[in-house]
Amino acid sequence: MRIFHNPHLQIASKKITSEVSLPNQIRCRKNYPWKNWGETASCQPEISFYPEKVEDLIDIVKFARNTKKRIRVAATGHSWSKLIPTDDILVYVHKLNHVEMDFSDQEKPKVLIECGATVKEVNNVLERHGYALPLNIVLESARFGGLIATGSHGSGWNNSTLSDLVHSIEIVIASGQLQRFETGIDDDEVMNAAKLNLGMFGITYRMKLYVQKSYTVRAVDRRAPLLETIENIKELIISHENCDLFWWPFCDQIWIKSWDKIDAEITAKPRKNLWYDFEAAITSRLFRETLKLLKRFPQLTPEMCKLFFKMTPSVRDDIVDLVEAIHYRRSIEVTKVGCLEIAFKVDPDFENVKKAINIVLEKNREYAAKGKYPLNLTMNVRFINGSQCLLSPAFGEGHTCFIEILSRADQKEWEQFSSEVALQWLKLPKALPHWAKEFEHIPGITTHIRREMGDNINIFNDIKQRLKLDIDNIFMNDLLMKIFLVKS
Ligand SMILES: Cc1cc2nc3c(=O)[nH]c(=O)nc-3n(C[C@H](O)[C@H](O)[C@H](O)COP(=O)(O)OP(=O)(O)OC[C@H]3O[C@@H](n4cnc5c(N)ncnc54)[C@H](O)[C@@H]3O)c2cc1C
Repeated sequence: MRIFHNPHLQIASKKITSEVSLPNQIRCRKNYPWKNWGETASCQPEISFYPEKVEDLIDIVKFARNTKKRIRVAATGHSWSKLIPTDDILVYVHKLNHVEMDFSDQEKPKVLIECGATVKEVNNVLERHGYALPLNIVLESARFGGLIATGSHGSGWNNSTLSDLVHSIEIVIASGQLQRFETGIDDDEVMNAAKLNLGMFGITYRMKLYVQKSYTVRAVDRRAPLLETIENIKELIISHENCDLFWWPFCDQIWIKSWDKIDAEITAKPRKNLWYDFEAAITSRLFRETLKLLKRFPQLTPEMCKLFFKMTPSVRDDIVDLVEAIHYRRSIEVTKVGCLEIAFKVDPDFENVKKAINIVLEKNREYAAKGKYPLNLTMNVRFINGSQCLLSPAFGEGHTCFIEILSRADQKEWEQFSSEVALQWLKLPKALPHWAKEFEHIPGITTHIRREMGDNINIFNDIKQRLKLDIDNIFMNDLLMKIFLVKS
């Protein structure tokens, strides 16, 4: 193995913080511990900063450079992988949350989002103007800095990832300059690196995303026989603009969720409905407490999963706003879960999708036969179009299947089970893990990523070096170094 930039050399030459004074008037804390939502990553950085404006970001980056310290950003912390941990400087961007519409180009309206704005804050502005993003994650509490950095996705046969919606992005690079990358001004390859950079270009201050006029959709949820659905999956998926599948272990039915554009009056409850939010908050908490039982009594898993499936809102037919269709569940973050997700290109006949689903069904049966029940939530299958972002697991032409398994966090044998499933999934051509989900426990995963993504990683690194964005690798951490800076 060859290390391009030896991290130990850099650490040895770090300056003690007291030699360089802390940037004035930026709130900070020393040795304040951080951990992510899923409790799979943690750190105790020497200094945590709480910037409130772009000038603060610039001062913090200059401070990091002068003290030769590493620097990472924490948004909501909803990523499972160790993308955030650093011993040096952690920047909390929650207060940088301004959102405004940009109608300067009437043909292509956009929304300008500061990195700390949550999905909810962005939706509020968009909805006020009658606009929407065509896709999003279900959850509304994640922040755009994190969503764009990791290439997060929703679903939709003709949609790509959130990062693909980026028109321009402003990043504080290692020199302390605020650098703007803009479609039509910077070349496509640079844009495709900047739009999904895992925080390796620097601290994203804000980004502008393409938006569209909001519209109504027919949202249908139904239960269908599992085996028949798998058999006819191609016809099902390509007959809808959006179609997601959710399977609860031990159930012989599957939840099919679809939505398609329709010009009709809304028939569902209003989206901003306090009762609906309250109901979701209560049921999510009840669900969380019930799931806890499975840790003590895992043998109850098959019956409980059947019950959970029956309790899902998997039967309905309504006309709703597009935003409501996308964010159809509230309070999903109440229950801490483990989650592993990979992406691969869909075969013309969907044979590899069937295979990926069957891997989970078989592995679940195999474990159950031994009296083990590590999978107690769902398998989700979603489809999007290809991504242009160099580091996206959905990169390149062709539709992409994102398949994921979720289980209550701390479930015994989850690591073993999920890594066995992943090892089989990753044999599918060009399969790659979602950056934000669990993947570090999969044996040989860094070699796999470097092999499958190799050319794109090289192009990404070349761009970073050519543009002198981070010569001393101050924006890297251990996980990113292992994947991006070590050559086998
Ligand atoms: C319940 C749940 C549901 C989810 N559903 C989906 C889903 O449907 N689809 C999907 O694709 N993903 C999904 N995710 C994953 C989620 O979208 C990603 O983890 C996303 O990154 C979360 O945003 P965050 O604000 O928590 O980012 P964080 O986890 O805080 O940060 C993610 C990465 O972005 C970097 N970063 C954040 N802000 C900046 C910035 N300003 N500048 C530079 N780097 C920055 C961080 O350093 C880190 O590397 C889900 C996660 C949870 C917990």
